[in-house]
Amino acid sequence: MTKNVYVIEDNEKNMKLFRAILNLIPDIEILEETRGDLGFELIKSGNPDLVILDIQLPEKSGTEICSELRKIEKFKDLPIIAVTSFAMKGDKERILASGFNQYISKPIKVQEFRELVTNYLQ
Ligand SMILES: [Mg+2]
Repeated sequence: MTKNVYVIEDNEKNMKLFRAILNLIPDIEILEETRGDLGFELIKSGNPDLVILDIQLPEKSGTEICSELRKIEKFKDLPIIAVTSFAMKGDKERILASGFNQYISKPIKVQEFRELVTNYLQ
């Protein structure tokens, strides 16, 4: 069965990389958005199996999107992964506190990211 993976990322280079890695995994449909507010609406109106969320996004941040999704019953257990270049002390804790399952730092490591996604989709 096809799994729906939502990627909300405003950086074109990173989006390309996510797409390239995700396309290595069979039976995945990728749904993309570059703006936070539009990404939130896309996820809300869809049927996601996994969400990859950049933290710094125009209009609505990844942490805002995540905490709002967690208030919706059907998204309580949805796997949501944060991807960010934030490296400040305390950022990781703050990000995880908004309801993400996991946090990964840029630059993305191809093999690690692929395995992570595969594990969440099993
Ligand atoms: Mg960004």
